[in-house]
Amino acid sequence: AAASSGGLVAYADSGSDAALEKPQLPQRKKVVVLGTGWGGTTFLRNLDSRLYDVQVISPRNYFAFTPLLPSVTSGTVEPRSIVEPIRRILEKKGGEIKFWEAECFKIDPQNKKIHCRSNIGTNLDGNGEFLVDYDYLVVAVGARTNTFNTPGVVENCHFLKEVEDAQKIRRSVMDCFERASLPFLDEEERKKNLHFVVVGGGPTGVEFAASLHDFVTEDLSKLYPSVQHLVKISLIEAADHILTMFDKRITNFAEDKFGRDGIDVKTGYKVVKVSKDAITMQNPATGDISVPYGMAVWSTGIGTRPFIVEFMKQIGQGNRRVLATDEWLRVRECDGVYAIGDCATINQRRVMEDIAEIFRVADKDKSGTLTVKEIQDVLDDIYVRYPQVQLYVKSKQMNGIADFVRSAKGDAEKESMELNIQEFKKALSLVDSQVKFLPATAQVASQQGQYLARCFNKMKDVEEHPEGPIRIRGEGRHRFLPFRYRHLGQFAPLGGEQTAAQLPGDWISIGHSTQWLWYSVYATKQISWRTRMLVVSDWTRRFIFGRDSSC
Ligand code: FAD
Ligand code: MG
Ligand code: MG
Ligand code: MG
Ligand code: MG
Repeated sequence: AAASSGGLVAYADSGSDAALEKPQLPQRKKVVVLGTGWGGTTFLRNLDSRLYDVQVISPRNYFAFTPLLPSVTSGTVEPRSIVEPIRRILEKKGGEIKFWEAECFKIDPQNKKIHCRSNIGTNLDGNGEFLVDYDYLVVAVGARTNTFNTPGVVENCHFLKEVEDAQKIRRSVMDCFERASLPFLDEEERKKNLHFVVVGGGPTGVEFAASLHDFVTEDLSKLYPSVQHLVKISLIEAADHILTMFDKRITNFAEDKFGRDGIDVKTGYKVVKVSKDAITMQNPATGDISVPYGMAVWSTGIGTRPFIVEFMKQIGQGNRRVLATDEWLRVRECDGVYAIGDCATINQRRVMEDIAEIFRVADKDKSGTLTVKEIQDVLDDIYVRYPQVQLYVKSKQMNGIADFVRSAKGDAEKESMELNIQEFKKALSLVDSQVKFLPATAQVASQQGQYLARCFNKMKDVEEHPEGPIRIRGEGRHRFLPFRYRHLGQFAPLGGEQTAAQLPGDWISIGHSTQWLWYSVYATKQISWRTRMLVVSDWTRRFIFGRDSSC
């Protein structure tokens, strides 16, 4: 009884000893986390779980290290080596966090409840449904593979999103080789079975194609000598190039390398239908062509989960494609709900929406104009609140604030270096074009999880000092800065122990030494010493004995 009402309990309501126990702390607020992927797990690992009553809900009771999924498809790394049970992660936090293996199928923001369903147990009503209350909800449910409603994809293609997918792909590759080796098949049938198609030339599709090529040339060709000359790998991409999110030099290198390796890169082709035996693709020049295939992997980008689409309709985001949050990762118009990772996108506030307010704050002496010094004084705050301004100044290679002022004044009035509101508007009129959407990567999701956990750890502070459009410095207050992404670079493994990397500052590095950088980064990033050991020993085993081809 003492624990229930929060704070002091009236002694009168019971004569028992319990009532004489020391008064309980006020009840902790309930935090519910949906998802145990990159976003959710990083949030949980960084959260001070003594401050909240934490519950975690996910249909998967483990965290998976997705960047190594392509390595699982070829048996370079074992599935067990890249997963960590979520209960083990939570246990390290002192066992204060509850986990339910279930999926959320509806969010009810009005009543601050979520509807969940277990697939492994039923309640008295005969279904596995239950309700969970929250004060704060962290939505980190990731995304699903986007098929663009292309007919036959769901039925006939593999996806590469989950550990099970990678295991299925590996088995399917082996089946294709064994089938092609059967005595009663003719040459055409063997060829068909050994045609592997990858749809989507993004980082995942490219890495998978490269690792499949390695698997075939380094291991399977020795084991299947009679059919190895029939193997073909095709990579189909609708755009004009593969790896378009990378620097041109990496794209070119990858296309050349795949060309030399004999991987058939078909750019400018859009897959329009997949049947059991053939893939149909379209190109303006050639029209429709159908090619027989043995196995296909579909990897063309991500889409929103259906229950998130429903949620978006409920909160007035029905016309959007992805759930939007503000720069503090809060879902707009939705008290206590946060969203991180692949399921959400940050709607960066535009400078032009706040231009009058920015001017008013900057014009400290209320003169109606801004001096260089006045702008200088607020510039750091503007950079934090509106990162696009910094990107703009960088992209125009401006040298200090004087350049910026000059750009607004034009040539005519070189003498006067003060800006009125019109000129200030003009100076900033193009900056919003620099607003960047963050990529759907583990790097973004985990930085967001970490940022949000820090916010939660300091939540009381924030409630007392809500943020304004511009942070006012020198007040000694602990105000929350908006989330800011630090890009640490991105890898594109291309097979044959070669990797391309694009590091911050557009630093490009390609080749064997970059592969070693890749090994060391991914060994370091492992979630526990246990998985780190397993992954490194898998790599070592592969170096010595090659990949295992039994399934
Ligand atoms: P996820 O990690 O997908 O986690 C979502 C979680 O939500 C899962 O636990 C899921 O089970 C759970 N969930 C789903 N539905 C529900 C529901 N209804 N209720 C409750 N829980 C639910 N990124 C990089 O930065 N570098 C890489 O090298 C890289 N390589 C990749 C390779 C592959 C093959 C893939 C598929 C992705 C790769 N990524 C990489 C991208 C990265 O994995 C994602 O950006 C990242 O996983 C996003 O994290 P998340 O937490 O938003 O979602
Ligand atoms: Mg997650
Ligand atoms: Mg994940
Ligand atoms: Mg996102
Ligand atoms: Mg002034």
